[in-house]
Amino acid sequence: MSRTNLFGTSRDGLAAVFAEVGEPAFRAKQVYAWLYHRRARSIAAMANLPKALRTALEERYEVRWPEVQERALSFDGTRKYLFRLDDGATIEAVYLPEDDRRTICISTQAGCPLKCAFCLTGIAGYKRNLKPAEILGQVATVMEEHPVAATHPHRDEGDPFPWNIVMMGMGEPLLNYDATVASLRVLLDPDGFGVPARKLTLSTVGILPALEKLAAEPARPNLAISLHAPDPGLRRALMPIEEKYAMGDVVDAALRYPVPRGGRVTFEYVLLGGVNDQAAHARALARRLAGRHVKVNLIPLNPAPDIPFRAPSPEAVDAFGALLAEAGVRVSVRRARGQDILAACGQLHLKKAAAAAATSRP
Ligand code: SAH
Repeated sequence: MSRTNLFGTSRDGLAAVFAEVGEPAFRAKQVYAWLYHRRARSIAAMANLPKALRTALEERYEVRWPEVQERALSFDGTRKYLFRLDDGATIEAVYLPEDDRRTICISTQAGCPLKCAFCLTGIAGYKRNLKPAEILGQVATVMEEHPVAATHPHRDEGDPFPWNIVMMGMGEPLLNYDATVASLRVLLDPDGFGVPARKLTLSTVGILPALEKLAAEPARPNLAISLHAPDPGLRRALMPIEEKYAMGDVVDAALRYPVPRGGRVTFEYVLLGGVNDQAAHARALARRLAGRHVKVNLIPLNPAPDIPFRAPSPEAVDAFGALLAEAGVRVSVRRARGQDILAACGQLHLKKAAAAAATSRP
């Protein structure tokens, strides 16, 4: 019989495990710290547990992170991970180093059911929700493989190279609400991963009932909303979810969302050449957002052969940003990263799927 994975278990779940075997409650706390704060890779490594307890636990439990199937390193330092899960599903995470911080982009679903017209994950289809162990395992793996080097120039200045986490990989986190919130609790917990709330951003198209629920959670991350169009008509053409959750309501809900201290709601806007990148679009977007405590992140499309859109021209990106800035809307432009390693969302997973299909052909 296969052993139960302790990794991914919540604080309460661990309390129940230890109550059941008749161990005192502080053991559950120790194991929680080993799993998520020190990120031990085995029960044997949990040095402050009595040897007999470790042996007993090992009979029924183990510590298992998702298996890395492939790593791809870009010339710009971006590193992309392809994980292969127990049922063969593959998901992606990305490590993105910058001068003064590093970011981990993680997935919350294998595939995605939303079918946004420009997104490869949607084109590839939906498989299933990820479990907390699979979400947290992406973070644990990337963190373990990137300790701060002893030679880091700012090593002595406190947290010299802080982690940021973005739930912007494959899938829609708010369609996997329970596992996403369970993961957020552990990531934000000072006794767990200890990531500050303003450094953890959940990106969503705006699944309204789930967004309202998240707004009432104590473990609340910063929020990014995938908008991508200034008006409902164009948004509907790009994002089928607009039929169900209209952008006016999504924007209102986002503006009500209590962001963590020091954070602000971001609206993401993928620029598609000739489609939503014109001056009229920028002006309409500015009218919606001017005077609000938000920012807009412009994302030039990461093109790929299967995506039926082209990237915007650099001039269009500049002009779009300038129009927003003139209207008083805070704006940033996402730099393309890791293009040499297929780091655009969903590409590595698709390449693998295509290769598997090719080799299984008779
Ligand atoms: N489902 C969530 C999170 C995953 S997508 C959401 O939609 O927000 C994270 C971001 O990447 C979204 O804003 C998404 O629209 C964007 N994105 C998807 N495909 C892209 C592509 N080919 N180029 C640039 N951005 C893309």
